[in-house]
Amino acid sequence: MASSIRVNKTCEYCKQEFIAKTIHTRYCSHRCNQKGYKRKERNSKVELAVKAAETPDFRLKHQKVDWHRFEGKPYLTLKEAALLLNITPVTLRRWVKEGVISSSKAGKKHLFERKMLDEKISH
Ligand SMILES: [Zn+2]
Repeated sequence: MASSIRVNKTCEYCKQEFIAKTIHTRYCSHRCNQKGYKRKERNSKVELAVKAAETPDFRLKHQKVDWHRFEGKPYLTLKEAALLLNITPVTLRRWVKEGVISSSKAGKKHLFERKMLDEKISH
């Protein structure tokens, strides 16, 4: 019974109409199936790359750091210090918690000694 099903479908790759034997068929031919699959794979890779570019880690690695803004500042905020260390603020906060790095607290804000950060970088 099921084998007698004939469904009018449009090929997802070449957009031509064809008669499919099952409702799950998406391509008119094996060739279109392969090409369509490859295209999908490529598209999903592009999507992944776009998603990666949106993560803070990626942005940190690729943004231009304006080093001048750190000049002459004996203390840096959490955000600035993370930028300097090329890590995310989340990581830096964890480092503070784990005692990897020490911070002075000004109210609720973390402050990091520039000298100490420079030492961390050179190590
Ligand atoms: Zn086709």
